[in-house]
Amino acid sequence: MERIRRQIENADTLECIEYAGTGAAKGGYGRITIRSRGKAYSFAAHRLAYELAHGELPEGHIVRHACHNPKCINPAHLTSGTHKQNAGDRMRAGRCAPQRGENNGNAKTSTQDREQIRLRRQRGETLKSIAADYGLHFSTISAIARSSN
Ligand SMILES: [Zn+2]
Repeated sequence: MERIRRQIENADTLECIEYAGTGAAKGGYGRITIRSRGKAYSFAAHRLAYELAHGELPEGHIVRHACHNPKCINPAHLTSGTHKQNAGDRMRAGRCAPQRGENNGNAKTSTQDREQIRLRRQRGETLKSIAADYGLHFSTISAIARSSN
């Protein structure tokens, strides 16, 4: 948490700030783990950065990257929106361009997304936490984690 705050405060607000904590190095969203009452909670770094700068996220909203850099935690690049809007962003950014093998439930994710999802599952992340980042139902995440393409 302190690390995120320091990174935000020292940054040039025009540039992307890439979260330097765990998870970030392997590509994908930066994650931060907070321990409370003996339990560990994992949060998306960009979501915490947004809440530090703009206040609590409205119910049902997710943090979106205006810059399409998943590691970026620059509050100036983060906006809140619904899952639906997020899917629209991905579409416009060309990350949902149809490719071979991308049908049915897989249509909402790119090959890269699915690789990322499988990696995160292997590292022990919960379906719910991954699903929240992608704006997908956890059953979709589960199906992706078990599939091989
Ligand atoms: Zn950015």
